Amino acid sequence: MALLYKSDPSRGPTWKALFAEHAPDIEIRLWPDVGDPTEIRYLAAWLPPENLAEFSNLEVIYALSAGVDQFDLSQLPDHVPVVRVLDPGIAQGIVEYASLTVLSLHRQVPLYLRQQHQHEWTAHALTPASERRIGVMGLGNLGTAVLRHLGAYGFKRLGWARSAHHIEGVDCYAGKAQLPAFLSQCDILLCLLPLTDETRGILNADLFAALPSGASVINLGRGAQLVDADLLTALDSGHLDQAVIDVLEQEPPSEEHPFWDHPKIWLTPHIGAMTFPQSAFGALLDNIRRHQRGEAMTGVIERLRGY
Ligand code: NAP
Repeated sequence: MALLYKSDPSRGPTWKALFAEHAPDIEIRLWPDVGDPTEIRYLAAWLPPENLAEFSNLEVIYALSAGVDQFDLSQLPDHVPVVRVLDPGIAQGIVEYASLTVLSLHRQVPLYLRQQHQHEWTAHALTPASERRIGVMGLGNLGTAVLRHLGAYGFKRLGWARSAHHIEGVDCYAGKAQLPAFLSQCDILLCLLPLTDETRGILNADLFAALPSGASVINLGRGAQLVDADLLTALDSGHLDQAVIDVLEQEPPSEEHPFWDHPKIWLTPHIGAMTFPQSAFGALLDNIRRHQRGEAMTGVIERLRGY
């Protein structure tokens, strides 16, 4: 029984060593050394190989990422489940990034850094955390972890998803109909949505207009969810105060991209979280063993929903 690893080549040997130590019954092949494709039962990949049809005994495709928007789900065989690995390391990374940036916006770090550059010593009034409203779009694995963690600081917390959720201490909203009510209360809006046909371009002029004046936005989801020009307009008009952008539609951006030098944009190179074999291995192996026992796996993608 063989698993083909087709993701970041630098981490391939670590995955192979982990399987050799903890699951020697599963042979690991590192792309492009596929061998006979009919011997591959499991594919752990960022993107599937183009000749996927030759992998006639493939049983499961495991995405080694939190999102699967890079997959063209319509091109994958219907009978092969696509399963994302719920890596606790990714949740930890996103919680760290969200905490860092929410606290920085809450405590006006970008403003104070600009002031220091200008040798300006001015203290501005503090807003208590209990009066700062943090809204998270997407209440899945990551959005829920972020909201739970931010509770420790005493922020007022809100969440929005497709379906109804109950998270202790968080006012939850659901669906398009409740989006305006949610947005109208978000001083800091954090996007942790998957990229689907429904969420493409969701961070646009209409959404920004529905936020309170002076709000800030953090995009940790995917770049194609943001309409770049609408963000620039909302920042330059003064309606939005600040944006933190971790993901872009084209990564890396061109040298001319207006976000590089914008004084109100804090840009990071898609570092919100990364999949580490050491933390993801346990979740992947657990899912493989579940599949072998005929049990339900965790993180199975619903093809029609797209996440
Ligand atoms: P998840 O567990 O699948 O959760 C997705 C959440 O989004 C769910 O709550 C879902 O609502 C909601 N949602 C989906 N479509 C929606 C829509 N049209 N309207 C309203 N809500 C919608 O995903 P996750 O593991 O939390 O990851 C979220 C995303 O974070 C990933 O897809 C990826 O794009 C991004 N990410 C970024 C980084 C980074 O480094 N920047 C790292 C990891 C992940 P329901 O609960 O109602 O289904």
